[in-house]
Amino acid sequence: MCGIAGYVGNKEALSILINGLSKLEYRGYDSAGISIICDGNIKTVKKKGRISVLEEFVKNDKINGHIGIGHTRWATHGEPSDKNSHPHTNTDGSISIVHNGIIENYIKLRDDLISKGYKFLSDTDTEVVVHLLDYYYKKDKNIKDAVFSTLNQIEGTYALGIICKDYPDTLIAARKGSPLIIGVGENENFIASDVPAILNYTKKIYLLDDGEVALINKDLILIYDKNKNEVKKDIFEVTWDMESAEKGGFEHFMLKEIFDQPKAIKDTLLGRLKNDYINLDEIKIDKQILENINRVYIVACGTAYHAGLMGKKFIESLCGIPVITDVASEFRYNNPIIDNKTLLIVLSQSGETADTLAAVRLAKEKGARILGVVNTVGSSIAREADDLLYTLAGLEIAVASTKAYTSQVVSMYLLANLFALELGKISKNDFENVKLTLEKLPGYIEDILKESDKIEKLSKEYINIKNVFYIGRGLDYFICKEGSLKLKEVSYLYSEAYPAGELKHGPIALLQEDSLVIGIATCENTMEKLVSNLQECKARGSKILSITTENNNIIKKVADNIIYIPYAGEFITPILANIPLQLFAYYMAINLGRDVDKPRNLAKSVTVE
Ligand code: GLU
Repeated sequence: MCGIAGYVGNKEALSILINGLSKLEYRGYDSAGISIICDGNIKTVKKKGRISVLEEFVKNDKINGHIGIGHTRWATHGEPSDKNSHPHTNTDGSISIVHNGIIENYIKLRDDLISKGYKFLSDTDTEVVVHLLDYYYKKDKNIKDAVFSTLNQIEGTYALGIICKDYPDTLIAARKGSPLIIGVGENENFIASDVPAILNYTKKIYLLDDGEVALINKDLILIYDKNKNEVKKDIFEVTWDMESAEKGGFEHFMLKEIFDQPKAIKDTLLGRLKNDYINLDEIKIDKQILENINRVYIVACGTAYHAGLMGKKFIESLCGIPVITDVASEFRYNNPIIDNKTLLIVLSQSGETADTLAAVRLAKEKGARILGVVNTVGSSIAREADDLLYTLAGLEIAVASTKAYTSQVVSMYLLANLFALELGKISKNDFENVKLTLEKLPGYIEDILKESDKIEKLSKEYINIKNVFYIGRGLDYFICKEGSLKLKEVSYLYSEAYPAGELKHGPIALLQEDSLVIGIATCENTMEKLVSNLQECKARGSKILSITTENNNIIKKVADNIIYIPYAGEFITPILANIPLQLFAYYMAINLGRDVDKPRNLAKSVTVE
């Protein structure tokens, strides 16, 4: 995820670009850059670090010009550095581009371009676009045709902002899969990844659709569909204020990020599910290495630990390898048995979680191989791990993790399948089913999100509840742990998660009329047992809410309320069960007037032990 800004008009482009980028910093902030046509030539400045670093750098530079593009980056390919920052330019500096997204077939394109004599200066996927554009521009002699020819070659997702020295009055925009809008002003026009970047100048926008390309002058905007036919669009009037716009119209980042999940999962899967293998190119663990491993640990903190628990079950079930899980703050002091045959898998959204990082360093010292599952490119864990799996959930701002968790669980499922394929433990047929189910997952999540109003209404029924118990069996129990943590974090309600059969061994003593018991019921082989456990709770006067799959009739006997989710197989259905729990936690917190995005006592990235 990153932020794009672009300007064409009569004013100085530099300050408008910097201002726009600063409003998009929530989308990424590991580096920033601008390109402006200045006295007939493109001048580019880009710097690792926040926009303030770039701003300071260009302060005394005379970069006068009335057309330009800017970018604030959240690296996906290549560490955050000056050279990997956008914009990227062609060799003679006559074309400059900014990009948001992932070019899936960049390795092949780069090899083709290198064989044609092109030289690459960065490690990004993006740089292939500018060289390809250069190639077609030299061939087609027309920038519009060259853009279309380039886009025809690209697989993956993009929002692009382009300037070309030979077209000093034209800003070019294109999108597929990543957001991009055109801001319509008086004698000036804008492009941006999101509304806040242009809200100081105009509230009139065109929403660019997938496959469209726009040629934008200060007083003319031409938009073309993928077949180069001109399209006429209605202007959209923005009614949001600045604060809500930054949240894409959602009231809180947490809610926005819950709704981001279909996209986060699509990004996490993008380019990774191949015909008969899984493409995780930064993991170099093959059959031989797997067979040589005598112990696997999964270690993490908080929500990431809960994703790790799911991972344990996936790896054990699919690969037959026993896995030990531990929270990072305990792992270090538990004298873990580690040697050079140990594989340590760690999960962290930020890649900077201090306890997890300490676990990595301890295990490394003792010779273990480290596999990091992280969301932040170039973070400490990403740099120190031997093998890497990026979760690609995009920037997560709300302190309570939602989309990063779901992406971590999906990543652990990919990893378990990768190991199982290496070990020959799953058949081609089974893998085909895995792929089909994963491909459907974003759509299933979308379906559940459409029911958010119902969950909001339901949450109001429980406004006087004093404590909430989450119970389930198998994978459902791990989902309970995450559901309960989410509720604690944002609503401050007292809550516990228990394996359903364990409740009667103690905690059932706490149940009263003002208790709510949430039964997660997706595990078919223990369904009847779970229903009995819920009966035991009901008999103590507690309210019962269940999350289960459509057609589960047996649960109706006991639950007061039921939230239905689609059935997507033994391993994926529990992931779906977590989505209503996120929404439930969010709405309960709203009902209680909590500060959902910044709950008391918490921080997003816990970089202290
Ligand atoms: N894939 C590009 C890069 O790594 C763009 C990243 C983004 O969209 O933030 O530079």
